[in-house]
Amino acid sequence: LVRLRRRLAGSNNALSRGLLTLLSRDRIDEETWEDFEDTLLTSDLGVKPTMELVEALRDRLRVEGTADPTAARTALREELIKLVDPTLDRSLAIDRTEVPAVVMVVGVNGTGKTTTVGKLARVLVAEDKDVVLGAADTFRAAAADQLETWGSRVGVPTVRGAEGADPASVAFEAVKVGIEGEADVVLIDTAGRLHTKTGLMDELGKIKRVIERQAPVTEVLLLLDATTGQNGLTQARIFAEVVDVTGVVLSKLDGSAKGGIVIQVQRELGVPVKLVGLGEGVDDLAPFEPEEFVDALLT
Ligand code: GDP
Repeated sequence: LVRLRRRLAGSNNALSRGLLTLLSRDRIDEETWEDFEDTLLTSDLGVKPTMELVEALRDRLRVEGTADPTAARTALREELIKLVDPTLDRSLAIDRTEVPAVVMVVGVNGTGKTTTVGKLARVLVAEDKDVVLGAADTFRAAAADQLETWGSRVGVPTVRGAEGADPASVAFEAVKVGIEGEADVVLIDTAGRLHTKTGLMDELGKIKRVIERQAPVTEVLLLLDATTGQNGLTQARIFAEVVDVTGVVLSKLDGSAKGGIVIQVQRELGVPVKLVGLGEGVDDLAPFEPEEFVDALLT
């Protein structure tokens, strides 16, 4: 929590600034509400959530008959947590049954897929799980090299193919290795070229189908780079159309973080943010906790 706070506080975040506008006044009047709304509209919270939030807060304070910033803060915290939705199930479906659990990691290049696979492997290894990595981004040799580097850093095997090999066959092989070695989890890194939607659909769909000849894909994690705002959201939407996403990983929440995207992406895609990336290091992956996230925004 301290780390998330520090990281979010260090970023010039329109959502945080908007919240602080509200909390820094002696009393809350019409002008405060307008400033608050204006600032939130420039954040990446989105128009509809902003309107809903402002309306819910105004209603609450009216009912409570107060214009006191402390009451506003409490109300704001609660309403934000509601928006982020603490009732969503954010656990990862990675329990081994007769075969290893298989996690596919998808998203546009540069969003942090390979890094997330590495960090997630580290988390799983720390939980005493046997992990196999599959480098199904065969388009660039550097991608497989990068994954292999993560594999050796974390101490897990990486299955890779020749450059230009069929990504689905590499994924198949990785799962096979996982089954033979009785691994708990197989993590599959994929390519994120977005030139055509059909191309992407064919590739990701095929990878999933081919994996599922041996073991069900239990999680499809979509990477979203928190610094890319609306643009990232548009791309995320395309991925969600071509493959059944089960959870979102919001990367780069450190740096120029735009935390409001959490609320939008969950609404748009109908899946929870499950993990957040807080840096480039091996330990910079954390479960997403709505209350902790909101507290970090309000600090
Ligand atoms: P991929 O192309 O989707 O596999 O993306 P990579 O995993 O190669 O990541 C792209 C860049 O983003 C790399 O330089 C990573 O170190 C960096 N990166 C990934 N996740 C995070 C994060 O949570 N925070 C920060 N600051 N950088 C990250």
